[in-house]
Amino acid sequence: MMSHGYNPEWSEGAVKCPIYQTSTFVFDKAESGKAFFELAYGKREPNKNEVPGLIYSRLNNPDLQILEERLCLWDGAQEAAVFESGMSAITTVLLEFLKPEDVLLYSRPVYGGTDHFINEVLPKYNIHVVEYFAWDTEEEILQRLEQTGKAEKLRMIYCETPANPTNEMFDLKMLKRIRDKFHVAESNEVVIAVDNTYLGPIWQHPLEHGADLVIYSATKYIGGHSDIIAGAVLGSHAHMARIKGLRTFMGNMAGPWTGWLLMRSLETLKLRMEAQQRNAEEVVKFLQSHENVEKVYYLGLLESDSRSGKIREEQCKGTGAMVAFDVKGGESGAFSFLNNLQLVKLAVSLGSTESLAQHPKSMTHAGVPDEDLKKLGITDSMVRLSVGVEHHDDIIWDLKQALDQVK
Ligand SMILES: *Cc1c(COP(=O)(O)O)cnc(C)c1O
Repeated sequence: MMSHGYNPEWSEGAVKCPIYQTSTFVFDKAESGKAFFELAYGKREPNKNEVPGLIYSRLNNPDLQILEERLCLWDGAQEAAVFESGMSAITTVLLEFLKPEDVLLYSRPVYGGTDHFINEVLPKYNIHVVEYFAWDTEEEILQRLEQTGKAEKLRMIYCETPANPTNEMFDLKMLKRIRDKFHVAESNEVVIAVDNTYLGPIWQHPLEHGADLVIYSATKYIGGHSDIIAGAVLGSHAHMARIKGLRTFMGNMAGPWTGWLLMRSLETLKLRMEAQQRNAEEVVKFLQSHENVEKVYYLGLLESDSRSGKIREEQCKGTGAMVAFDVKGGESGAFSFLNNLQLVKLAVSLGSTESLAQHPKSMTHAGVPDEDLKKLGITDSMVRLSVGVEHHDDIIWDLKQALDQVK
């Protein structure tokens, strides 16, 4: 992965791919410019060994292309597209594969920004949305679709698994069965898109379980240093050609600087994520032993004979570094804990080298209606922790002193 897609001979022997901070690229002759545009606009198929040339950085740039080729290796995808944010990746997918009158089936809870776009923006384009929860059976989901009277217009199934922050699992194989019921011809294709940000490209590979598209907020594990906002989508050549087409005209591709930083980040992705997971396991053990912690939510704690536990066994290659727990004393207990942290930062976001803590109910999930928070099990006393790469003794020292002060 680290040397894939880049040849030092292209850049004076530079061992690392440089930043190609340029808006446009010089054609060696007019015929080349013509050929590059023919390929970019899909006017003809490439000839044998013909590679698409560089034109303009809204269409392509070496820092994006090399990064995209490297991202494909993690998920076993044919093609990838990088965006300037996770939200631009998500909204481009939704807009490309849905049109007026279509139906979108989406899991709850989803990321707050995604939820807003699905419920506030898509309806303006007369796109109908139907929700489903982790505990819904296949029959219940089908029933809810049929009740809309528009089930035959289903065009996309969207999923975020595990659910943030409670770690409940969605069964991607079940979603594929639902898709296959409605995907009766190419002309009414139903696409499964999975936001895999929460487990990242190490611990879950949705394309292996029936998803057509996998989406990332690369701001999280992939970027991993809390210093960039970025997104990515991966899938087949055919799907990605459509997504890259819309990206060209929305102009929401990542810039060369973001691409370069993400290539830097990919080199340590596995090291970081594995260190974070090892730390999370230690943190979970500690939390379970502290008298001011009521309940701990972690993928590794799911009973293997429970519904979510069985899905985790089939679908996940790790238990991740995202931990939630209920602090004694409701919101004031949780706030007292958060306010007394000294090393762990009080901030939203996740998957970075530094440990972060936040209060889902009043922060990341502030837009979720009260009755839904209850259904989803997001309580006043819940804190969400993204475990970083610090020494676990340091993290636990901090958690302990802050928990000890909770009255
Ligand atoms: C952060 C996040 C997003 C949004 O990504 P941005 O890079 O902030 O635009 C989408 N989905 C999930 C699961 C996220 O955690």
